[in-house]
Amino acid sequence: MHELSIACEILEQVKNTAAAHGAIKVKHVTLQMGRLSHTNPEQLSFCFKAIAEGSIAEDADFIVEMVPPSLECECGYTGAIDEKQIQESSEFTSELLAYIEVDKECPICGKQAQLAGGRELIIKSIEIETEDDLTADR
Ligand SMILES: [Zn+2]
Repeated sequence: MHELSIACEILEQVKNTAAAHGAIKVKHVTLQMGRLSHTNPEQLSFCFKAIAEGSIAEDADFIVEMVPPSLECECGYTGAIDEKQIQESSEFTSELLAYIEVDKECPICGKQAQLAGGRELIIKSIEIETEDDLTADR
């Protein structure tokens, strides 16, 4: 399963970061996920919790923030794709991709704009507890 291998990579990074900061516990893991990354956030969260069991991150809250794709044009325009329209089309289907493919004209100059972002899958922050009870990002 796609989500399981991603969850494994995330857990590895979380464990490395936690060890580097002398953590005794991981409290939160916040992930930024592009809407076009073809990953199901619920499944990813489920997989993470399953494999984190028994590790330093077993009680961590797993938070996924969805990131909409944006448009970039050679005229200098950048803008987010209309979030409302994305939510109205069904998620994780080719319908969304089809919409993205056809409708990416620059609203300023009308040229074809480039799709930027929307496929990222990154750890935004990790909140840990250390023996001194300090918290640190990343
Ligand atoms: Zn333009």
